[in-house]
Parts: sequence; structure tokens; C-alpha cells
Amino acid sequence: MKTRRRDQLTIAHDISRKHLNYRLIKWFKVHQRDLPWRKTHDPYAIWLSEMMLQQTQVVTVIPYYQRFLKHFASIDKLAEAPLEEVLKLWAGLGYYRRAKHLHQAAKIIRQQFGDAFPSTVEELGKLPGIGRYTAGAVASIAFDRQAAVLDGNVMRVLTRLGAIRGNIALPAAREALWTLAERLVPRRGAGVWNQALMELGATVCLPKNPRCDACPVRNLCRARALGLEEKLPVKHAERKIPTVHLAAVVIDSPRGFLLAKRGAGGLWEHLWEFPTFSIKSGSNGEDSAVARLRKLLGPRAVPQRVPGKLVHRLTHRVLYYSLFYSRVNKRISAARFSKLCASDGRNYEAFRWIKNLDHLPVAKITRRIAEAAKIIAPASD
Ligand code: SF4
Repeated sequence: MKTRRRDQLTIAHDISRKHLNYRLIKWFKVHQRDLPWRKTHDPYAIWLSEMMLQQTQVVTVIPYYQRFLKHFASIDKLAEAPLEEVLKLWAGLGYYRRAKHLHQAAKIIRQQFGDAFPSTVEELGKLPGIGRYTAGAVASIAFDRQAAVLDGNVMRVLTRLGAIRGNIALPAAREALWTLAERLVPRRGAGVWNQALMELGATVCLPKNPRCDACPVRNLCRARALGLEEKLPVKHAERKIPTVHLAAVVIDSPRGFLLAKRGAGGLWEHLWEFPTFSIKSGSNGEDSAVARLRKLLGPRAVPQRVPGKLVHRLTHRVLYYSLFYSRVNKRISAARFSKLCASDGRNYEAFRWIKNLDHLPVAKITRRIAEAAKIIAPASD
């Protein structure tokens, strides 16, 4: 990922800021949509529009925005109103937490800033409901602060302009895009620049069938030059890693603890572990594990559940261990465990009673199980 990040930063230098800025802004001044929040410099109105536009389309927002501003013409009126009144005006727009946050933030702004409005990304970012994007949008559009924005539209435009192939679903790739956006944002006119980038993404550099022929920056676009405009950005949801639920049982006898040796092939080949078998997730799986252990150990060796669960992450799956402990007064037949564990394909090739884990090769998870059951100490890896 470090390499990809470096690539993207290099691209930030490569993209000609001057040309890009000039062409994009010139285009924006002529082609921008006529939207009500673009006719004002009032930070309250701009903030309101950004809150309403989160997860919501422009056409849906316009009537709500106008009605809301008519009713709550100033931040004072909003801060003084009961929440119910605010929610009533928001009704139908969805994501009602936004309305609550707006109301809370209005009160905080009045208490902490008096007649002023917070103008920096840092100040804005401390308010409820204002994330990195919204803080950058309000700071740049309302106050012309040199602050970047990165929403879906901007991500698409930047990845295409620079032909950046990183998976934007990954946080590290998004962070690199933030860095790129921050490098490109001009010192003056940041608000116009940000809106122009977003407008390009919303109206020309579309997710499907981008209108490259109408694009003001087509000659600077690497994706277009490489024929990649339809393929970028790359967005693969993180692969869902399967989970496996297991029961590991620590059998404590006067001669030591029972360990089983894994057979050839598969995970942890030939390593020793506490007898382990698969169970279903949740309490049903654990209850059935207790029932199976009771049957196997007899009435005098009631298995106790060790509180908590151990999680062991592998690249291809996540293992959840429920742990059980049982004290037995005499050695019991290990063959019984062989049968139990073999029932889900775990083929143990040997069993041993041991007093110290250090005497056998074990995986880290086995030491963790021992530690959790607090039976063998100290264990070093
Ligand atoms: Fe997007 Fe096409 Fe413009 Fe490149 S040329 S920025 S792909 S619209």
C-alpha cells in the first residue's frame, strides 16, 4: 500500500494544477447548475445545504432547503426552536439524525461562538454531524479557506484524472485521495474549485458513460488517454472472510493436560493443541458443546465454560474459540476425543498428557487458550 500511496502522491505533482484549475473553473462558471445554495454566502445556509445533501439527491433537497430556511431564517431561530419543530420540517427527507445534529450544533455554535460562525475545518469538525467532508465544504465555500473535500464525485474525478488504480473501498486508498485533494486545492478560490470538481463529477464525469467529449479537462485526463475512463475508479468491497466457530476443551488431570497432535496436511500440521471441534455460532453451539462433553466425560467431570471468546484471524478465515475446562480425577481415554474431533474432519494422529506447553510445538492460539484458562503458566511464544 505504501507503493500505491507514493504513486498517488507523485501523480499529485504530475497533474498540472494551474491548467486544471483554469479550465475547470472557467467551465464551472458557465455550466454550473442553478442551485439555491449557490446564491448565498451565508455559512448557515451553506451548512444546511451540505447537511441535507448527505446521502440525498439535489432535486429532493431543494424544496426542503427552501422551506427550512423560510421557517428558520437564521441560526438563532433554529437554536431556539424545539427539536420537534425541526423534525417536522425534516420529515420525509430521511436520515433524521442529521436534523438532530443540526439542531444540537446550532445550539453549540450560539453558546460557543456568539454571533460568529465557526470557520475552520478544526472548529467545524468538532460539531455534531460534521465530518471531514462537510467541514471542508463549509470552510471552503462559506469562508474561502484552503480546505479540500472528498465525496464520491470528487473521488471519481481524481482517480480518473490521475488514472489511479487503487481500490477506493479501502481506507488507505481513500486517505491517499484526501492527500491528493489537499494538494490540488488552491490557496484562493478553494470553494469554487471544490464545487467545480463536484459539479464535474455530478454532471460530466459520470459513474457510467462519462461524457468525456464535453469535459473541460479531457486533455489532462490520464484515464481517457489510457482508455480507462469506464474502468475507474476501482471499487471492490472488502472480501467477506468466513468465520468458523470452534470449541476447545482443556482437560485437567493429575498427570497433566490433554493435548492432541494434528495430522498431516491443513492448518497447523503436526502441531499440538487442546482438543478442538466445530460448533454452531451463538449459545446453541455452546450448549451443544457442553452436552457432547458431558456425554464424553461422564457425570463427574462437568465441563465449565471459560468466560469470553478467543478470536484468531487468519488471512482466509476468522476462528472464534469458545473454551471449556474440565477437571478429571483420573486419566480418561483420549480415543474418545479422537472420535469427537474427527466427526468434523479434524484428524488427530496422537494424544498426550503434559504438564508444560513448552515441551511440545504449539501454535500461538494454543498458548492463548492456556492463558485464558489460566492453567499453564508462564507460556512464552
Ligand atoms: Fe472524467 Fe472523461 Fe473528463 Fe476524464 S475526460 S475527467 S474520465 S469526463
